[in-house]
Amino acid sequence: MTTKSIGLAEPLYRYLIAHGAREPAVLAALREETASHPMVRMQISPDQGALMAMLVRLVGARRCLEVGVFTGYSSLAVALALPADGRIVACDVNEEWTDIARRYWQQAGVANKIDLQLRPALETLDSLLSDGAAGTFDFAFIDADKTSYEAYVERALELLRPGGLIVVDNVLWGGSVVDADNNEADTEAIRAFNARRVADERVDLVMLPVADGVTLLRKR
Ligand code: CA
Repeated sequence: MTTKSIGLAEPLYRYLIAHGAREPAVLAALREETASHPMVRMQISPDQGALMAMLVRLVGARRCLEVGVFTGYSSLAVALALPADGRIVACDVNEEWTDIARRYWQQAGVANKIDLQLRPALETLDSLLSDGAAGTFDFAFIDADKTSYEAYVERALELLRPGGLIVVDNVLWGGSVVDADNNEADTEAIRAFNARRVADERVDLVMLPVADGVTLLRKR
């Protein structure tokens, strides 16, 4: 099997962004502010934001989950794509990062769509389940600590309706998933997660070489 994907060197990637993603001004401003943040690598790319907005529209999402907010780019991209009555339950544990997020949600006029839960995501997901929210969500984005991906996806699968979509970030982990010398906990967790998902009959699946690798899981 030979590769069919074109490796994107910088000029070609710039071309892709210029012709394949319409980044709203408020998202561009957030990207600019986050550019100097020490954890900037945690921010999703403009093409990934455009992909997620497209997916939200395609599934007709109204109720969304986000696990891993950081400075809010992905939640803002999703919120802007939601209808006026759309809502996101956004999970994070970092007040400093999400203060930036809140500022941009306000600026974009979508703060009313986003319910930020500042506590471990599993607590939020479990309390949604115990409140009877199983089967009521349409869309979920998983992008937090990699060793908990398995637990997040199990909860998300319960919370989603059939036909609902889970978007999982960083599934190629900088290419380290195929580096036999890399046995770091995060790398091992992502390898195990990917192996379980490709055999998981509860979902339809496609892994895309977008950004750091994105897997789409559609609940059957
Ligand atoms: Ca990520």
